[in-house]
Formats: sequence, C-alpha cells, structure tokens
Amino acid sequence: KAKELGNNAFQLFSPDMGQQTQHRVDLEIRLRSAIAEEQLYLVYQPKVNLTSGEITGCEALIRWKHPEFGMVSPMQFIPIAEDSGLIIAIGDWVLRTACLQGRAWIDAGLPPICIAVNISVRQFLQQDLVAWVARTLQATGLPPEYLELELTESLIAQDIERVTQTTLQLKEIGVKLSIDDFGTGYSSLSYLRSFHVDTLKIDQSFVRNMLTETENATIVLAVIALAHSLKFKVIAEGVETEQHCKYLQMHDCDEIQGYYFSKPIAATEFASLLQSGQKLNIPGS
Ligand code: C2E
Ligand code: MG
Ligand code: MG
Ligand code: MG
Repeated sequence: KAKELGNNAFQLFSPDMGQQTQHRVDLEIRLRSAIAEEQLYLVYQPKVNLTSGEITGCEALIRWKHPEFGMVSPMQFIPIAEDSGLIIAIGDWVLRTACLQGRAWIDAGLPPICIAVNISVRQFLQQDLVAWVARTLQATGLPPEYLELELTESLIAQDIERVTQTTLQLKEIGVKLSIDDFGTGYSSLSYLRSFHVDTLKIDQSFVRNMLTETENATIVLAVIALAHSLKFKVIAEGVETEQHCKYLQMHDCDEIQGYYFSKPIAATEFASLLQSGQKLNIPGS
C-alpha cells in the first residue's frame, strides 16, 4: 500500500492510520458472522441488448446490511474479505444463492436469462474452482449456460498458463465468462486472446466520461473494436443517460448495464420486470 501512495508522505504517516486499521479489523470481525446472521443478500441489475432492447441477463451484486452500521458498500468489505480469506465463504454463499435464484426464475416460467456472478482473483485461484462451480450448478439445478462468471482483468498478471487452463475448463462445463472493468488493468492483448472468455465489460469510468472527454471515448471505441475483432461480445457498464445509450448503440456496442435502464433491484422486483417484458427504449429506432 505504502508504495502505491508514492511520495505522498503525509498519507504514509497519517495519524488516521491506526484508526483505519482498527476500523478494518472491526469490519472483519463483523463480516465473519454476517453470513450466519443473514445480513447478506443479493440484488440484481439487468443487462439489456442494444439491438432488441430485451433483457438478456443480470449481474448479482452483494449487499451487507449490518444491524448497527446499516449498509456497508461492497467496495469497502470485498477487499477486506479478499485479504482475510473470508471471500471464499462469502463467494460460496453468493454463487449458491444466485444459482438458486436463477433456478427459481426458470421454475416460475420466466424467460430464461443468464445470471452473472463476480469472482475475485483469490477465488479464481482456488485449486478446486472448477469442481466447486460444477458442484454448485449440480446442487442448485441451474443449467450451466445460465451462469456467467465475471473475472477481473488483474488475472492477466497471474500465471497465464494456469488462467488459460482454468478458463478452458470452465468453458467445457458450459458457463460463460466475461472480463469485468475492462480497460483499467494492464492487459497484455496477446494473452487476452488465449483466455476463453465470451464478453468484455467496459469499465464505467470510461463510459461516464466518454461524452465529455475524447480520451475516454477513444478507449470505449477501441474496446468495442477489440472485442469484436476477437469475436467477443462487449457490454458497457455505468450507462446513466439516454445520450450514453445513443452513443454506444451508434458505435455497435452489444449490450448495456446501468442506471439508465435500471439500478440493481431485489429478486422479486427483477422477476416482475422480466415478466413485464419491458424493453429498453432504443433512441432513434
Ligand atoms: P462491478 O462488478 O464492476 O459492479 C458494477 C458496480 O457498478 C455495482 O456497484 C453497481 O451497483 C454499479 N453501477 C451499475 N450501474 C451503474 C450506473 O449507471 N452508475 C453508477 N455510478 N454505478 C453503477 P456495487 O454493487 O457497489 O459493487 C461494487 C463492486 O463490488 C463490484 O463492481 C464488484 O467488483 C464488487 N462486488 C459486488 N458484489 C460482489 C460479489 O458478490 N463478489 C465479489 N467478489 N465482488 C463483488
Ligand atoms: Mg461485475
Ligand atoms: Mg464492473
Ligand atoms: Mg467495478
């Protein structure tokens, strides 16, 4: 951490440090009991196709409601879960819960959609990852084609051979794979080709600023072109306005996810949305 802060000496010797560390430890202790005490739940954010306007899937996102502290953001507790190893138990709960939910939607006769689950690097590098995914699909009865795993670009900094092998094995069991927050890491493009992924998710920081800063637009367009040339699908995250939507549609992005269509919502709300057949209003069509 100190290295990342570079020459910002003030940060390094901040008197807050002790407090911050204590806060982290407190959160970790509470996070340990969060599963058993049923403080965790999932919300689901739709992904929509920019040609048909239809919902094609959703991303399951974890929420933690602590009885005293209220909502704790995943941006705050996921890193703690990763560092402490708690991510394994939490990730197991997330995958199982999302798969059960997907199965329940199928059983309720809703149009089939793909559920995406975030997998952190530490989880991905577990020896039994593939067996764990297969076991969970089996136990919950969700057909593999309805599960997508969102991997992070930082996997590219790991053992490439191993990541290639694991992604191949995951493809063999039939799940879909995407690379989340694409563009923020330091992807070596040649490795990207050897990973067996289906989709690139353009990071929301580029999408948010693409209409005001040409550098961001350039990155968005480059990622769309890259994805298509590798025969991947491409989805933009953090789409908040009609203008974002229009721009992405005009430039052949395949799908969008963001507040413009819907925030992440509770499972029952998502089911109603899916049932209603509500489509994205595609500008200019
Ligand atoms: P992510 O996987 O990139 O998820 C997208 C984040 O963007 C979500 O934040 C979502 O609520 C937010 N978002 C979606 N549309 C918009 C928009 O239009 N505008 C803005 N400003 N934000 C939007 P969230 O739910 O707070 O999650 C943050 C991150 O925490 C996720 O980023 C993911 O990296 C991690 N995370 C969440 N759930 C899980 C989980 O179950 N397991 C793991 N390992 N990580 C998770
Ligand atoms: Mg994600
Ligand atoms: Mg993302
Ligand atoms: Mg993110």
